[in-house]
Amino acid sequence: MFGSAMDTELVHLIVGEDEHQRRLEFDRKLLCAKVPFLQAMFNGHFPASDGEAHLPTDRAGAVEQLLSILLYDAEAGIARLPHAGGRSQDGESWNPFELYALARKWCLLGILDEIMDTLLWQHFWNEELPAVAFIRETYDRAPGNSMLRKYVLWAVRFARGEGIPCGGEQEWREFLEDYPDFEKDLQETVPTQELDPRALLNRCEFHLHDAENPCRGRRLYNRRIQ
Ligand SMILES: [Zn+2]
Repeated sequence: MFGSAMDTELVHLIVGEDEHQRRLEFDRKLLCAKVPFLQAMFNGHFPASDGEAHLPTDRAGAVEQLLSILLYDAEAGIARLPHAGGRSQDGESWNPFELYALARKWCLLGILDEIMDTLLWQHFWNEELPAVAFIRETYDRAPGNSMLRKYVLWAVRFARGEGIPCGGEQEWREFLEDYPDFEKDLQETVPTQELDPRALLNRCEFHLHDAENPCRGRRLYNRRIQ
């Protein structure tokens, strides 16, 4: 429908800084309907003017990936994005830490659950557990109460029980020097029973939604195993 362009108001997100800055264009109605955080920016609660909103601390590639799913491909979801170690290498691999941080900032609870499901699914599928580099990045970038932290703690507990090494000794020593509370977190956060967290995809263990809200992640999981 060419005529519909008349009804479309375009807005721009100016993402990143300096040579990394990019200008991304979106349909205002669609963007605001999907991301209330951005709607608030365009409605004047945050600095935004002339249909432009500035996101200097975000990375354009990550913003583009997240919005491509939210606005145009919600049915396929995060799982559609190319991932490290996957078969599809069309385009940039999604970075769970980066998208998780962005979804947290934008308060997209359904997407946070979906990120966790996709990550668990990919680790399960690749027979992979979080290694120390992954754990370090989680501690660097995800807060203590996040599901990403919970996942790595459960995974390390499981790996130790099974005698699976999660990285080299030197790497671990350095990580524990930087994060001396890790062992305490491990004792305090996880259940005494050792469980493979990747096998818990069909539960809501790493989800943030409450019982009143539908489980978006489980819906995707159920569809995939049918
Ligand atoms: Zn759930």
